[in-house]
Amino acid sequence: MSLTKRDKKHLWHPLTQHKLHSEHLAIAKAKNAILIDDNGNEYIDGIASWYTCMYGHCNEYITQKVSAQMQQLDHVVFAGFTHEPAIKLSEELIKILPNNQEKLFFSDNGSTSVDIAIKMSLQYHFNQGEKRGKVIALEGGFHGDTFGAMSVSGLSVYNGPFEDFFIDVARIPVPTKENILSVKKQFLQLIQENKVASFIFEPIVQGAAAMQMHDPSLLDELISLAKENNVLTIADEVMTGFGKTGSYFASDYLQNKPDIICLSKSLTAGLVPMAITSCTQKVYDAFLSNDISKGFFHGHTYSANPIACTAALAGIELLQTEVIQQQIKKITLKHQTFANEIKSHPKVKTTRQQGVIFALDLDVEMERYGNLRNKLFNFFMQNGVCLRPLGNTIYILAPFVITNQQLDKIYATIKKALEIL
Ligand SMILES: *Cc1c(COP(=O)(O)O)cnc(C)c1O
Repeated sequence: MSLTKRDKKHLWHPLTQHKLHSEHLAIAKAKNAILIDDNGNEYIDGIASWYTCMYGHCNEYITQKVSAQMQQLDHVVFAGFTHEPAIKLSEELIKILPNNQEKLFFSDNGSTSVDIAIKMSLQYHFNQGEKRGKVIALEGGFHGDTFGAMSVSGLSVYNGPFEDFFIDVARIPVPTKENILSVKKQFLQLIQENKVASFIFEPIVQGAAAMQMHDPSLLDELISLAKENNVLTIADEVMTGFGKTGSYFASDYLQNKPDIICLSKSLTAGLVPMAITSCTQKVYDAFLSNDISKGFFHGHTYSANPIACTAALAGIELLQTEVIQQQIKKITLKHQTFANEIKSHPKVKTTRQQGVIFALDLDVEMERYGNLRNKLFNFFMQNGVCLRPLGNTIYILAPFVITNQQLDKIYATIKKALEIL
């Protein structure tokens, strides 16, 4: 029996309505930017398996380091114990994070890193004798699927059963040149009329909102207002972190550095799940006390797993190499050339780009084309390219190690798709 058939028997996939989508393609192998299915067909991984394996699938440097670590120390409780991979990772990560970041708290995925950031911000005020319960978020943001992370994400039709259990959130529009004055006014009013603990945002690029991009200087104005009012700022860099925006972190483009930063996805280079919530000394110090209950009583079983820390360390080493930095520059330039080639195509409404993240909006009415997104997805896969359009946006976020030839094939396949639409 085929893997696709066997899959159906017991497996329940994420984000899937199984009545409408019951077939799942089985991937047998992956190497660098290529996924290979169980029939030997190859696909260029144009989205780096949800922005994780940026140094390529099954990267030998990383797998060797991880394999050696597996023989040495697999896991140990991180409450009361420590180990070299976590210590070394903290030393190396702090070097490249915005320089106000001092402390790292471990968890398992992007959603938990966000829940931790929110809990940190609530307890930060609580420990200082103030009960602040509201969080401000940007409209259209995505921060994950656990309750806290889901609450601060943009509203969606999928939230129905859970909305009554959301934490207290106020959403404001993403700032633009046109609306900045009114957004600042709304932001300040929310802070003055409520007990606001924190402000959370995806800096510069909102990933799940189809790679929507905004001007860092406008976000800076909101962060500045937050800081003046002792509202903690949380940058969710789960998607944007580790080189994708052309700098190590999207927060590097901000003048006002966030108090708390959430990291996951490519943190561990696509090998194993792990997440980190980093914060400033000021946030950390608010939890220091002779009163034990002022500590941060949050902990996951696999916190700072040595194998995951080793994968992260190897990834951070690679990120800083000349080879990867040159690849980032090369991909950025090639995306620019492609954008210039297609931006006046009648079916292209707009293109946008930040570092290796490229997106184009199609100028077509979704209804007229039926289920455009699925048609595009199937067309790309039939042509050996794995891209997952969001609505009528096609985006590319390929591994840094993608070759020129592979990148050209992605561009050519998108152009072909524009012709057959
Ligand atoms: C993917 C993502 C998350 C959630 O991470 P998971 O590991 O899927 O829980 C949170 N924030 C952003 C910006 C993301 O892109």
